[in-house]
Amino acid sequence: MTDEKRGTTREGSEHSAQGKRPGERHEDFLDRQALHSRMSQIQHKIMVLSGKGGVGKSTVAVNLATALALAGKRVGLLDVDIHGPSIPKLLHVEGTPITGNETTLFPVTVGCGTGLLQVMSIGFLLRDRDDAVIWRGPRKFGVIKQFLKDVDWGELDYLVIDSPPGTGDEPLAIAQLIENADGALVVTTPQQVSVQDVRRCIVFCRQVDLPVLGVIENMSGFTCPKCGELIPIFGADGGRAMAEEMGVPYLGAIPIEPEVVVSGDSGTPMVQARPHSETAKAFGRIVRTLLEPELRQVEEQVALPRDGHPMTIAVPVTNGVLSSHFGHCERFVLFEVDPDGKTIARRQELKPPPHEPGTFPRWLHEQGATVIIAGGMGSRAQSLFAQNEIEVVVGVSGGEPDVIVRSFLDGRLETGANICDH
Ligand code: ADP
Repeated sequence: MTDEKRGTTREGSEHSAQGKRPGERHEDFLDRQALHSRMSQIQHKIMVLSGKGGVGKSTVAVNLATALALAGKRVGLLDVDIHGPSIPKLLHVEGTPITGNETTLFPVTVGCGTGLLQVMSIGFLLRDRDDAVIWRGPRKFGVIKQFLKDVDWGELDYLVIDSPPGTGDEPLAIAQLIENADGALVVTTPQQVSVQDVRRCIVFCRQVDLPVLGVIENMSGFTCPKCGELIPIFGADGGRAMAEEMGVPYLGAIPIEPEVVVSGDSGTPMVQARPHSETAKAFGRIVRTLLEPELRQVEEQVALPRDGHPMTIAVPVTNGVLSSHFGHCERFVLFEVDPDGKTIARRQELKPPPHEPGTFPRWLHEQGATVIIAGGMGSRAQSLFAQNEIEVVVGVSGGEPDVIVRSFLDGRLETGANICDH
């Protein structure tokens, strides 16, 4: 998206932060410059939105910020949920006195070692919770603007912003004030009613020109601790279906786990308190998707929850369908999938290097592939893939790569004889 385009609807595009606008009051111009200079020290800004309250937006914001911090990033967590700031409670820092002066507020540091977060909540500043209720629109906008402008984060890799729920004036103010945000993560539960709210949220993002980074379905099924059966308490897959319908990425599902409530009460986010829980693994996968461009570098440094190893499946393709001999394929389609959730997190098409014995297994290994689905394959090629830690599935005939991978994930992929015609 171009800055020009954003500048039409959002306050803080780069060019709008320079020069004074026609008719702009001098104080507003100075505020805008101050906000611009704070925000320009932050590399990535991610807003966490939800269509309504109670779907786990703050829980997602806290765990996401912590998972990014555990990944070695410098992270700030900003709670601008003016009517229900719950971040201080979730991190056990309620009532912490804020240091600063007339124009500067310093965030509170939470945690120790890796997982360190800089936290600022509007809740630290509200004398009582009813303050915000009596503020009228312009006053609210002023308070939000001053708050965003005054917090001195220093340099950050990521700022995660817990926004007020809904699509009203408050999230609008934030979307307009945070310049060049990467985009929004939209949290929903699988229920129909919540999913409809999220649809509104996505329309809202489009109206303010805020990219939708993806939809997260929270409270998505409960695994019975006795029999292991997944019980879809609030329905199933509503978030995924809605994301597909609206053409936005689906980032995955977070189950209902009673420990989430316990961890919220104890002040230690799930990704830190229970790194092997399903919830922590789900956050690990979401963070890996967000960090995708920097993934390789990050995976070397980090201790993200890694039990549910993502798997990358390579499918050799010619003319849009599975190539009967992988060595002659036009390209490989690589699917990064979540084996637990059976979801495709990322899909990319790559042109392979010139084919010589051994080049494709090595190259696919470098691309992160862990499985190759092929038509036929000789035993020598199979052993070369094995040496490169790539599992081989052979005997699949024809078909579009996406259909093949979905069948494979659902356990419905039919394989026949391994016919190597090469
Ligand atoms: P919101 O910010 O959308 O209002 P919260 O993050 O405050 O929602 O979550 C609302 C309540 O639901 C909290 O008590 C939280 O602990 C609980 N909760 C959130 N996500 C889950 C989950 N995946 N499993 C169990 N409880 C959850």
